[in-house]
Amino acid sequence: MLNSLLFAAIIATAPAMPTDSGCTACATALEPRLEQIVAEAWASVQDDAPAISRVADKRHQADIDKDIEMGRKYTEIVEKEYKLSTDQDHIERVNRIGGHLAEVANRTPVRVSWGDSRLSPFPYEFKVLEGEDINAFSLPGGFIYVYDGLLTSTDGDDELAGVLAHEIAHASLRHIATFQREQSRLSTWTLPAVIAAIILGGETGHGVLMGSQLLTQANASGWHINAEKAADYAGLQYMIKSDYNPVAMLTMMERLARNERFRASTMRTLGIFQTHPLSRDRADALTAHLKDLGIPIKRSLASTVYRVDLRDLPNGAVEAWFDGRKLYTFGGSNARARSEEAAKKLNDFFDQVPELFEVQSREADVILGRRLPLLKIEPEDVAAVGASSMEELNRNTINSIKSVLYLLAYRIWDTR
Ligand SMILES: [Zn+2]
Repeated sequence: MLNSLLFAAIIATAPAMPTDSGCTACATALEPRLEQIVAEAWASVQDDAPAISRVADKRHQADIDKDIEMGRKYTEIVEKEYKLSTDQDHIERVNRIGGHLAEVANRTPVRVSWGDSRLSPFPYEFKVLEGEDINAFSLPGGFIYVYDGLLTSTDGDDELAGVLAHEIAHASLRHIATFQREQSRLSTWTLPAVIAAIILGGETGHGVLMGSQLLTQANASGWHINAEKAADYAGLQYMIKSDYNPVAMLTMMERLARNERFRASTMRTLGIFQTHPLSRDRADALTAHLKDLGIPIKRSLASTVYRVDLRDLPNGAVEAWFDGRKLYTFGGSNARARSEEAAKKLNDFFDQVPELFEVQSREADVILGRRLPLLKIEPEDVAAVGASSMEELNRNTINSIKSVLYLLAYRIWDTR
């Protein structure tokens, strides 16, 4: 508002540029006059301040209302074309988590790398669509859709919160309006195509946009990459202000990057090349933001996939598992207490994403991680697992832990 007012004042009072101007001195000659105009405009703005802030609020509200109106129009199309889920658990979960994050977003100003940086409150609505797609999308004005498939594939509420925070950020940063403003020449005919692509492809369907000839120029601007990264950054800030673990946003992105890598190799065999490993870039950017913000990246606290899972056996022994792999069996009368202590140490060790050589044994009965004891092998453990000797159990345990390190390296080496 202020800028456009100043600009209007300058246009209105600046003398016409001489048409024979080949001289660079003309610009210099204009400068004192320009300064004076700006000073006068600034003074008049200040005199008029209360009136102007009211006008700005009204204009901001008009922008918000326009987004809601546009979004609502597209919800009619979505709900005519797609079936709403009837899964009450999914509906309850999305509304509970989304409702909390929406409340955070509506009161939290965030750092914005791309989009409208004003705090724009929206009456967010969260709906679940039927289908196994691991996907979600957001329409202007805060209408957010999540597929059943995403709800079954996310690991716990924290990861789902990460996805919803990202979707909320697309709406709160007014990404479609920002795109429309930046691409004003194209907007009349690209906007419906952009929204159609968002609905059809959702978060993982950027291929739809990439392939569309209509959008070649829009894509050349890299707008959707800017939009994705900005929604991640703002979403992360909402997560920090929320009840959920912000690191889950990273574990979710790493999961998408993994799927993308798998899909990319499938696409290559079909002769389709994917030039932008977007999820991997985004995981890298999230890692950098977490480090900048001083948030320790402890995946074991954000996702059960990265957490040692203890299972009690009927005979009193306790097994330690990691993502479907059995690591160790604790025997004896204090198996439970020993397993809990070891699980804590193993989680800390795995959270550091160590190299294979960093797991070692000291004597036959101690396993070390980064030179610190991870667990102590007791004779009861040898009996519990039916090993022939302590040395054999030691070797097997080292191998089990190495297989976890190998798995971690495969999953997250991209983002270290
Ligand atoms: Zn997105």
